[in-house]
Amino acid sequence: MPNCLYDALFGRHAESDKTCLIQADGSHLSYAGFLEMAARYANCFNAQGLKPGDRVAVQVPKSAEALAVYAACVRAGLVLLPLNTAYTADELDYFAGNAEPGLMLCAPEAEGALTPVAQKHGARLLTLDGHGGGSFIAAAADQSSEFETVSREPDDLAALLYTSGTTGRSKGAMLSHANLLSNAEVLKVSWGFTEEDVLLHALPIFHTHGLFVASNITFLAGGAMIFLPAFKTEAMVENLPKATSMMGVPTFYTRLLDSSDFTADLVSHMRLFVSGSAPLLAETHTAFEERTGHHILERYGMTETNMITSNPLEGDRRAGTVGFPLDGVQARVVDPDSGAPVQTGDVGMVEVKGPNVFQGYWKMPDKTAEEFRADGFFITGDMGRIDEDGYLSIVGRSKDLIISGGFNIYPKEVELLLDDQEGVLESAVIGAPHPDFGEGVVGVLVPVPGAQLDADAILAKIKPKIARFKQPKALFILDELPRNAMGKVQKAALRETHKDCFR
Ligand code: AMP
Repeated sequence: MPNCLYDALFGRHAESDKTCLIQADGSHLSYAGFLEMAARYANCFNAQGLKPGDRVAVQVPKSAEALAVYAACVRAGLVLLPLNTAYTADELDYFAGNAEPGLMLCAPEAEGALTPVAQKHGARLLTLDGHGGGSFIAAAADQSSEFETVSREPDDLAALLYTSGTTGRSKGAMLSHANLLSNAEVLKVSWGFTEEDVLLHALPIFHTHGLFVASNITFLAGGAMIFLPAFKTEAMVENLPKATSMMGVPTFYTRLLDSSDFTADLVSHMRLFVSGSAPLLAETHTAFEERTGHHILERYGMTETNMITSNPLEGDRRAGTVGFPLDGVQARVVDPDSGAPVQTGDVGMVEVKGPNVFQGYWKMPDKTAEEFRADGFFITGDMGRIDEDGYLSIVGRSKDLIISGGFNIYPKEVELLLDDQEGVLESAVIGAPHPDFGEGVVGVLVPVPGAQLDADAILAKIKPKIARFKQPKALFILDELPRNAMGKVQKAALRETHKDCFR
């Protein structure tokens, strides 16, 4: 029975003794061992009563087992819903209510807080820790390692990834088997991945970058990954000599450059360094080249579209640009209002069409319709420019998105929370340049007349409510927010005022 994504990424390696994952302790897991584990998990999903098309919400630490949950979902025709490990129980309540998963997997320490959430939404709850333990592993232990792969159509859903919503509500981007496979195929060729590749993987696997870009390409090529639980400079320095390639967010590169142990010798054998998910400063690109002789290959994409453009493997990798549209992907820059193409070199809205583009937002047909043009192009919300050589540069984000440490934060969500605090009349949330995170979240508060605001007390109050990466790293109190003639808050002015607050 065909299941194009499973067959291409996993099925053909079922008998292979070749290493698939090298774990942080140095142990090797073969493709056969990894897929045997995934088969048991797929049987366990069946035993839990899950049916093809059901959602499996997964908020667990990164591990080989967590990655095998992805393979198991693809094989069993289930829809994987990976969730940032920083999300709180309040946030999980929204995701579970919206996606109605049949099963939730969480870290053992979150079980107490998530039990009422799972009960409320009719989901089963099992645990998976970062070391191959938990009630899910126990339930899967006796399952057979034989599993009949569930047949799937190319447009059937493989994953539901939530993006932050501009109005404070997250939207579930529906990604099909064909969306994921087409992107893995084009990236494998564009970046020259082969079974000889050993990718140093320190990205989280709840996000498109670590889960799909990095893992899918490696699986498709039959290569291996050095699978580290998180980015730590010493562990990277220790493992780089064993790798051929690395993918990271810009913060990885600035942190490596901060270390005197990160030398040209350490990486002279490396084939490729890729950066994405947030803008790589041209200075970082140049400093990396000066230190190592390698030009970082910067690419651009988003959850809804997978990867859209990339600098070339062969040829000029231009700092400050994200390169050309990938094969089979159309990208254009248009006037945001009229949708008409702008002149070469002019800034406009980046729009994209191709087999990589998602199937729409889960249960939000109106939102989906708003974000597509009549001719099928998806409106990314990113402002960009294409130069006369065809290189795309991203110049800003029309939707005011903040990207801190590679994670997206929509200001509205944080503003709504700040506005709810006692004595707060209104608030504005912006990103300010941050030496470590790229951008740090800054909140500006206006008190109700006569109220005295205590910034530390407010921060302490909102902490349990939102993920750490979304929490303001600085709060300022102003008498009023700067506004334009139409009454709109002038965020550009606030960004200018606070641009040095983390320097
Ligand atoms: P996400 O959906 O979390 O992958 O975030 C997607 C957003 O990250 C895009 O819409 C861009 O705003 C931003 N982004 C991704 N890659 C780049 C890049 N190379 N340069 C600038 N912005 C980027």
